[in-house]
Amino acid sequence: MTRLIFLGPPGAGKGTQAKTLADHWQIPHISTGDILRQALQEQTPLGIKAQSYMDKGELVPDQLVQDMVKERLTQADCSEGWILDGFPRTVKQAEFLESLLESIQQQGERVVNLDVPDDVVVGRLLERGRKDDAEDVIRRRLEVYRSETEPLINHYGAKNRLVVVNGNQSQEEVTSALKNAIA
Ligand code: ADP
Repeated sequence: MTRLIFLGPPGAGKGTQAKTLADHWQIPHISTGDILRQALQEQTPLGIKAQSYMDKGELVPDQLVQDMVKERLTQADCSEGWILDGFPRTVKQAEFLESLLESIQQQGERVVNLDVPDDVVVGRLLERGRKDDAEDVIRRRLEVYRSETEPLINHYGAKNRLVVVNGNQSQEEVTSALKNAIA
């Protein structure tokens, strides 16, 4: 049973690696960024509420993403494992997730920190060119990552749930490092 949480700055390659591993293990890849972008594109009430935050590189309010994650993790296909990409992003979200997993009996999650230096991630994001990948928005997302999300590395480290993988190598090398670290 694989239940995996991906941490790492924007541009670390979380999405690519999470998708590859989810295909490999045949479990759902749950990306809160993808769910939010889809909602935004369809202009659902969630998407409309999230838009201004995403455009600025700010975090969408905890309650909105927490409701989203609860809805997704309680679907039947998550009973055999999952990979979470982009959640939790704050200590509050992590605490929410811990109590959710306990209440739906899905504990035993592990956490990967995909480690990549700042100058490398900025370069990758500028190349990617998504709508929220303008340089000022990228810088803001990195600041938010450092202040809100990076504390989760110690949070999960203290719980002995954390594995660190060097994300600054080829895509294939990262995938095999992840498979080794998690096996
Ligand atoms: P990246 O990792 O490249 O920054 P994501 O696709 O994970 O991008 O997220 C894009 C945007 O979606 C974030 O900048 C944020 O506004 C919003 N978002 C995604 N996940 C969360 C979350 N767990 N909490 C709050 N906001 C989120």
